[in-house]
Amino acid sequence: MPEGDAVWRTADRLRKALDGRVLERTDFRVPQHATADLSGGVVLETVSRGKHLLTRIDHEDQRWTLHTHLKMEGSWRVYRPDERWSQSGHLARVVLAAEGRTAVGFQLGVVELLPRDREDDVVGHLGPDLLGPDWDEDEAVRRLTADPDRPLGEALLDQRNLAGIGTIYRTELCFLTGYDPRSPVGAVQDPLRMVRLAHLMLDQNRHHAQIVTTGDKRRGRSLWVYGRGQERCLRCGTPIERGELGQPGLARVAYWCPHCQS
Ligand SMILES: [Zn+2]
Repeated sequence: MPEGDAVWRTADRLRKALDGRVLERTDFRVPQHATADLSGGVVLETVSRGKHLLTRIDHEDQRWTLHTHLKMEGSWRVYRPDERWSQSGHLARVVLAAEGRTAVGFQLGVVELLPRDREDDVVGHLGPDLLGPDWDEDEAVRRLTADPDRPLGEALLDQRNLAGIGTIYRTELCFLTGYDPRSPVGAVQDPLRMVRLAHLMLDQNRHHAQIVTTGDKRRGRSLWVYGRGQERCLRCGTPIERGELGQPGLARVAYWCPHCQS
């Protein structure tokens, strides 16, 4: 699943392709909006909020927001008019063609067109956005620490606390701060440091596709513990453990070094 930095890059790609352009053709290939047609409308901008994307479109007298979410396998690609769509085998769910650019949303987990004044219905629950212009570290700490008994790894992944962290960042954050992801939030001695580190990690990775937390881009060296079950800890040599964390049905993979994290 894409993390907040990948979603930010997607918004950036859509901004460069569509901002200020007039839509020549729109195609919403989801049942609830199959008959919607916003051609002739103007794309104002696309913004990311955590892992959500909001594309704002003015059409006639209506102010719309196209809300999309990549979920597990989704992506937005931009093509020239004569270019073949890559991603063969992936289902196109939305097509926005505007003045020489065609943006296609494949395998999107959410496609929903709503009046712009209802954006809060879909993103109002989110905690401070790690890559948002209104990033608020104090509010992030307040939300993260509100339930001190909750396992740390679970609280970090909850988008109502901080928006933008996925399983890779939560895993690496726990390693870098020395906490076992199963330990309670209340055990964290300096939550402000943790929240600042989360912000720094996403910010440093926002411009490139590879997530690097070690400072070393080489294959197999770019992450401290994520995806390295049974391999040796890059810091101490102890075999990395792998487990699942979260409520039944929502459990997500976690990795940790039993020596470096407690
Ligand atoms: Zn270790």
